[in-house]
Amino acid sequence: MTRLLITIISLLISQSAYSQWHRLPFETMGTSAYVEFYSQDSDTAAQLIQQVQAEFERINQLMSPYIATSELSRLNTLAATENITVSTELFQLLSRATDISNQTAGAFDITFASIGFYYDYRQHKKPDPKVLQQAKQLINYKSVLLLADNKVRYAKPGVKVDLGGIAKGYAVEQASLLLAKAGIQHALITAGGDTRLLGDKRGLPWQVAIKHPRQDDRFAAQLPLMDTAISTSGDYERFFIEDGIRYHHIIDPSTGKSSTGLLSVSVIGADTTYTDALSTSLFVLGLEQGMQLIERLPEYEAIFIDAAKKMHFSSGLAQQ
Ligand code: ADP
Ligand code: MG
Repeated sequence: MTRLLITIISLLISQSAYSQWHRLPFETMGTSAYVEFYSQDSDTAAQLIQQVQAEFERINQLMSPYIATSELSRLNTLAATENITVSTELFQLLSRATDISNQTAGAFDITFASIGFYYDYRQHKKPDPKVLQQAKQLINYKSVLLLADNKVRYAKPGVKVDLGGIAKGYAVEQASLLLAKAGIQHALITAGGDTRLLGDKRGLPWQVAIKHPRQDDRFAAQLPLMDTAISTSGDYERFFIEDGIRYHHIIDPSTGKSSTGLLSVSVIGADTTYTDALSTSLFVLGLEQGMQLIERLPEYEAIFIDAAKKMHFSSGLAQQ
């Protein structure tokens, strides 16, 4: 009996000696990603980590505009001349993007890419004014016609789509669903500026930091969060500065130029697909209109950092 007790106790001790938190940083969709979750079964955990990585890669192969064989590339090459049938998954994300465009008065617009492809932030490349004037006319989400039976058509030649403002959030959300379905109750998944939390950190909230928009080694805020998503869009992620002008990757569809006025916007809410698209949208809308929009969405909150580096909180956060 005593022997059995000792065996049980030593088993318990040896089990807790193994870390039941499983973690992996990895690269995907052109950015750094990280997954961390709690599981007492190391074999299952190792499989889940692989499945998470595979899920990101699957979505990347489907939706990257830089992969010639992706469904999205096929659309960008052919959809101006013929109706193209796409997967239900891509069709649904395109529909989602259109809904968000309508909701944001066009601040969110996946056809920003019609001009976006002329920018290369690493090479310090931007469109010259003439090209800008012409390509700007091609930015209009209404040119992406979503037809019956998952068929898609672009209304004009020259229209291009890029899902960079929503696909990463979607992938994070899908990966978190995968973990949840496998019974994982405590997890953090992040890719670029998009993070999804399942549950808490076993008794403690997760701590999610918002980067300082002008000092790489500092945080602007740290938020205790659980069971939610948070996405941040900033003008400091991909950019170059020329003649005092910051050219960065969030494009105002009404000008075809990098959006000015804010340095960063974070959106908190249940669905990472939505927080991703909303953070980009609010960045373009600016403080006043962006705040108005977020206040109309009861389950979603936002933190804006303005040009003077002052933080502004939506009412649900300001109360806390
Ligand atoms: P990231 O997490 O990649 O920094 P954000 O969520 O901040 O991305 O969104 C920026 C990305 O969204 C850009 O890299 C581009 O692909 C895309 N994008 C830029 N402007 C718009 C826009 N007005 N509407 C929709 N998507 C946009
Ligand atoms: Mg975004």
